Amino acid sequence: MAPPARFDPQDTIVSVKCHHPPTSTPYFHIHETLLYKAAAVHNWRRSSAHENTFELNVPWDGFRHFALWLYTGKCDEENLSADCWIDSTNELLHAHEVGRKLGCVDFQDTVVDALTTKLTDCKGNLICDILGDFLKEFPFQSIGRQLLVDVIAYGPAENGMSNEEDKRFDYNALKSVDDSHFTIVLSREILASRGFQVPLNLTEELMTMLVCGFLEIKSQGDSVPRREMPWITNPCRYHRHTELGLPCYKSKQ
Ligand SMILES: [Zn+2]
Repeated sequence: MAPPARFDPQDTIVSVKCHHPPTSTPYFHIHETLLYKAAAVHNWRRSSAHENTFELNVPWDGFRHFALWLYTGKCDEENLSADCWIDSTNELLHAHEVGRKLGCVDFQDTVVDALTTKLTDCKGNLICDILGDFLKEFPFQSIGRQLLVDVIAYGPAENGMSNEEDKRFDYNALKSVDDSHFTIVLSREILASRGFQVPLNLTEELMTMLVCGFLEIKSQGDSVPRREMPWITNPCRYHRHTELGLPCYKSKQ
């Protein structure tokens, strides 16, 4: 889908209603051509009573970001709840759901960048509280899951394994071991060293990815400077356009 475009102020305004709207502002009012350029509107259900009103099966708080993005190319990061990391992260997950359901890759990638900032700002165990919603939105072997395990694997060691504990693991030997029990043990150690309570109900897929990410760090000499974190050196690693072979939204701005 196209990036945010210029619009004609004389253009028709359409109204969009989503799930769980606040009673004060139930509708979004959007210039029609702007909306049509960004989303697959032909699938949308028009309200039976009003020709210019759509009713969408997506969460209101996620669509709020999409409506702003249509005009500015940005998520509404400034108005995310600063007090509650869990609420604001869930809101971004809802925004990602909107982008996915509307087939708008550029918006999805914009949301993933905002999510990256959220996840890398996370302190300690909070990721566990959004894990269920996160895994629901990002399916098996998706780039979103890769982001999650990278944030955990590359994140600062809060408790930190002691040198003695660290020596118990022969990381190089592990690279050639295909042993799911070992994977589980090591991934729990990694989670504990990163300040996450164990057990965390990760799937085996995530545990394997986590161990791979961790081994990658070990092969680089254990401490990776922040400027070399993968989401800083290569944010497109987590963008959907990469999977689809399309240009990055950033190259269009
Ligand atoms: Zn990109």
